[in-house]
Amino acid sequence: MWTEFTYQALPMRVSFGPGRSARVADEVDALGLERVLVLSTPEQEDLATRISEALGARSAGVHPKARMHVPIDIAHVASDVARTRGADGCVAVGGGSTIGLGKAIALTHGLPIVAVPTTYAGSEMTPVWGLTEDGVKRTGRNPAVLPRSVVYDPELTLTLPAELSVTSAMNAVAHAVEGLYAPNASPVISLMAEEGTRAIVEALPGIVRDGRDLAARSGALYGAWLCGAVLGATTMSLHHKLCHVLGGTYDLPHAALHTVMLPHVVAFNAPASGALRDALGRVLGTSDPAVALWDLARSLGAPTSLAEIGMDAKDLPAVVRAVLESPYANPRTPSAENLRSLLTRAQQGDRPQP
Ligand code: NAD
Repeated sequence: MWTEFTYQALPMRVSFGPGRSARVADEVDALGLERVLVLSTPEQEDLATRISEALGARSAGVHPKARMHVPIDIAHVASDVARTRGADGCVAVGGGSTIGLGKAIALTHGLPIVAVPTTYAGSEMTPVWGLTEDGVKRTGRNPAVLPRSVVYDPELTLTLPAELSVTSAMNAVAHAVEGLYAPNASPVISLMAEEGTRAIVEALPGIVRDGRDLAARSGALYGAWLCGAVLGATTMSLHHKLCHVLGGTYDLPHAALHTVMLPHVVAFNAPASGALRDALGRVLGTSDPAVALWDLARSLGAPTSLAEIGMDAKDLPAVVRAVLESPYANPRTPSAENLRSLLTRAQQGDRPQP
């Protein structure tokens, strides 16, 4: 029962549906933009080129140089390209890495972003930017980097490989999980978190069976939108802190890392959060959401141990120290021993204990 809360809605427009990416030009026009730089990773250059061609004279060309965790030199080059081509906005076509590059440009030049997400990571819904320099990832919040318009086209996700589909969706569920017990949780955010998780959990088996199942893809992308909105509206806790330290320092694959860590953080936090137990209990039909999430990820072929995604056990003590060094919100305050045990279980790929 909610007795008090604060909720700040974020100003953005969302357009959702199969084929909607063909209408990116309408979004660009609605924002009054005349010359937009189209961003992508090298792997998604063909898609970005198609969108650039559909933009016609409104396009300042494609810059297909996005990379995971937005290395600072890549951000500087992209900002220079936006300036020299006279861009007045960006269209970021891709996952969190590409949208992150758009945010880096927005941070430098204040250019508005139209985001066309092709994964379930949720960056398009947040005012959070990240930049990596000398192996250290800095993040911050700035309303200037929040995309002004987001076009969700499930057809663009048909090519997302099965394993990345599962891990990226688990990344989205992690946003919902931490939104449920965030210090700035609110009733509308909790509804979005539960509904987003439900949509993803229902969609994933169909996607793994057939990656071209458009109904399942639509369900997962709808869930990802809601979970991303939860991330944008709340303060994240232990799970995101752990993943930030592990991913930023040891360059582990972002979505897979979230997938491995989530069940272990849920096992640690669930005893202290009725909101988490109730919402995940309804969605997963269980009194033990940690085990249910671990079983789900495993049954869908996702990695379940830090070891298999490249983490070396000898570095775990440094992770414990880094996580304890800076304070963050969490329903339970973890001791060094708690963190050691949680990370060791994740490292080994142990099933969470009921
Ligand atoms: P990603 O953007 O790095 O994409 C992974 C790979 O998949 C890339 O090669 C990409 O080209 C490819 N890909 C993406 N969509 C595809 C599709 N539909 N079909 C085929 N290939 C496709 O992965 P991600 O997990 O979306 O993003 C991770 C990054 O986003 C991390 O750096 C993370 O920190 C950041 N992130 C930021 C926020 C935020 O709020 N700032 C939120 C979530 C994630």
